[in-house]
Amino acid sequence: MDYDTYGSNAVELAIDLANADRAGDPGWAEAFLRSHDEWFPVETPLELTPAEARRAAATADLVRAVALAGTQDDVIARLNELLTLARPHPYATDHDGELHLHYARPDAPALEQLTTTVAMGLSQVVAQHGWQRLGACSAEGCDDVYVDTSRNASRRYCSNTCASRSTVAAYRARRRV
Ligand SMILES: [Zn+2]
Ligand SMILES: [Zn+2]
Repeated sequence: MDYDTYGSNAVELAIDLANADRAGDPGWAEAFLRSHDEWFPVETPLELTPAEARRAAATADLVRAVALAGTQDDVIARLNELLTLARPHPYATDHDGELHLHYARPDAPALEQLTTTVAMGLSQVVAQHGWQRLGACSAEGCDDVYVDTSRNASRRYCSNTCASRSTVAAYRARRRV
């Protein structure tokens, strides 16, 4: 399948956000922005207030809910919930040398840029390629979500690490009988 670069990158950002480790660290959202700072113009301050961090968590929960939804009605309801948080403002740029569109204003606060990019990126990919492209990792003990960009929609794991871990576990299980 053909993904346009920005759209597919934006859905990867959404998946990263949904899988971000939030356990017990109130600074997780700001750390997430800093580890994805290629998404923000250098002028954008990446500091978040505690209220903004909670809104980032709500966005992450909604991305996860979309990925885990089992029916199209459920997917649509969750996507619309996520889209109400977005403030889309199409913006043309060639900051990387190639003319492309961004979903958010470059002068919007970091949280608004993040929420808008994630909501629009996820919605575009679901609308173009189907919600079955999203799923949760099949590896034991992993509940990360993923977007399947493989040609034949055969993905079952969040990462190569989980895929090979599961292959080894299945092999050992077979050998035991
Ligand atoms: Zn760009
Ligand atoms: Zn996994």
